[in-house]
Amino acid sequence: MFSHNLSAILAASSARHSHLCPRQVLGARMGLAGGRALDLDLPRTDKRLLVFVESDGCFADGVEVATGCTMGHRTLRLEDYGKIAAVFVDVKSERAVRVAPRLDVRDRAYAYAPGERRHYFAQLQAYQVMPDAELLVIQPVSLTTPVAQIVSRPIVRVDCERCGEEIINEREVWVGGQTLCRACAGSGYYSPAVDSNLVFAQSMES
Ligand SMILES: [Zn+2]
Ligand SMILES: [Zn+2]
Repeated sequence: MFSHNLSAILAASSARHSHLCPRQVLGARMGLAGGRALDLDLPRTDKRLLVFVESDGCFADGVEVATGCTMGHRTLRLEDYGKIAAVFVDVKSERAVRVAPRLDVRDRAYAYAPGERRHYFAQLQAYQVMPDAELLVIQPVSLTTPVAQIVSRPIVRVDCERCGEEIINEREVWVGGQTLCRACAGSGYYSPAVDSNLVFAQSMES
């Protein structure tokens, strides 16, 4: 079963932190369950599995170690919904499942951690041994953006017509006949500070 696998995964995940916590365990269990649901062997060393984690933090490390999917390999993406949940996509078949903890998982945990009344430690213990069906909900889903569009192609690149920076992976947008990056198009996650002289240019002057 998964127990041997799981302890190796948890050792690798917790080595990245100063601790092992229930969220890392959940991430690891969810990663393993996602792979099983799609009949994909884990951890992956190819790009067959694409994972969307719905929050960052410890949970994401559990998912990453279990699946072998990483941001660096472009096989792990963050859709920040602030949830402990993840979608696993078989890139070849486009089959996808969303895996999340059962809503009542914290209550169920006590039955798997006899004598442990402290929530945190009950969860830490229980999440390692609870059967998938007690721990997780696995729901088939389909992505609203086609995988091919998410993954894009390695060779494509254009320059933003406003800031001049290069845009890869077809993330440009067209506004008023111009090819723009998302920041210049006004949907950026930052805006320039009021005094927006470039830091580097300033330090060159002084
Ligand atoms: Zn943690
Ligand atoms: Zn731009």
